[in-house]
Amino acid sequence: MKLNLNIQPLSSWIKTGSEPLLIAGPCSAETEDQLVATAHLLAKTGRVSALRAGIWKPRTRPGEFEGIGSIGLEWLKRAKEETGLPTAVEVATAKHVEEALKAGVDILWVGARSTVNPFTVQEIADALRGVDVPVMVKNPVNPDLSLWVGALERINNAGITKLAAIHRGFSSHEKSAFRNEPMWDLAIGLKTLAPELPLINDPSHITGNRDLIGYISQKALDLDMQGLMIESHIDPTVAWTDAKQQVTPDALVEIIKHLTLRKPEIRNSEVKDKLEELRNQIDKIDDLVIQKMAERMKIVEQIGNYKKDNNITILQVNRWDEILNKRTNYAKALKLSTEFTEKLLELIHAESIRKQTEIMNKDEAGQAADKLTHA
Ligand code: PEP
Ligand code: MN
Repeated sequence: MKLNLNIQPLSSWIKTGSEPLLIAGPCSAETEDQLVATAHLLAKTGRVSALRAGIWKPRTRPGEFEGIGSIGLEWLKRAKEETGLPTAVEVATAKHVEEALKAGVDILWVGARSTVNPFTVQEIADALRGVDVPVMVKNPVNPDLSLWVGALERINNAGITKLAAIHRGFSSHEKSAFRNEPMWDLAIGLKTLAPELPLINDPSHITGNRDLIGYISQKALDLDMQGLMIESHIDPTVAWTDAKQQVTPDALVEIIKHLTLRKPEIRNSEVKDKLEELRNQIDKIDDLVIQKMAERMKIVEQIGNYKKDNNITILQVNRWDEILNKRTNYAKALKLSTEFTEKLLELIHAESIRKQTEIMNKDEAGQAADKLTHA
């Protein structure tokens, strides 16, 4: 399945010349001096394409710093006038959209706490109708790809075609080194559904820790994400929000300098030939895997019929345990991870059960129909 989004390329609304595309700025605009001075340092790096700053901050508890509010828009205006950097802010209500647009903010983004709520997203989308402004949509706090997709669709349906997604990680119970679990498969899922939709990574909110930003940034680039949004503050140690994850503009340059850019398209023809050959081998193996799966399912059908004829339950736990043990041991010897093997076997097993259930039910329905016609 592919999403039906109407998208303009990233290069139509942001300077994509600097590699990787970088949006940077403080988590929050705190004072005019802090914002403007940070903007100057970021502009001086020559690597930053847009200045981000939160004006209205969604905070978990009341009483925490909830953003400087509308006055910050004036500071952003000044930062832009003095540095030439386009500006980006988070909007969470129709009023935010109106004020930001009136103040000449160049790019808007929808935050993770807004993306979870279709009412909020729709309110933002309605306020955007008829406006030609780029909008970036962060993934929802919870790991739900449909919510992310739904928010992108709502904004796109309102006529916003300069659209991008921001991957900022997901809330999770699991204890981990990250503030928000990256769950890369969800970002890859979005990329698969909408290959033309620019995807930007936010390593600051994924890591919650400035020491891990380089690591996550590299991983995002290796997965062919188009850019990075990184929080940068003139003095992170005294930042009013997200102090642990912000970096100075100098540290930002260091992180960027150490990233390796890999190209999805292959220029070197020798590399291309080798890759082509390896891909051919993979194609053949995948065909074999599918063929063998089909053969396996045919036998499963025979088993299903046999069980039905002999009144045997579909699931026999002992047999399943035996399969799992034997196969994972074998797979381990072949250097496949147990986690992978178990997942694969569970998937195959679930399909086998589904097929056998279908056989049992179909036959019961068939028998019932038979009885009716003979009555
Ligand atoms: C932010 O970008 O500062 C922010 C609040 O992010 P998120 O919506 O990803 O939590
Ligand atoms: Mn932040």
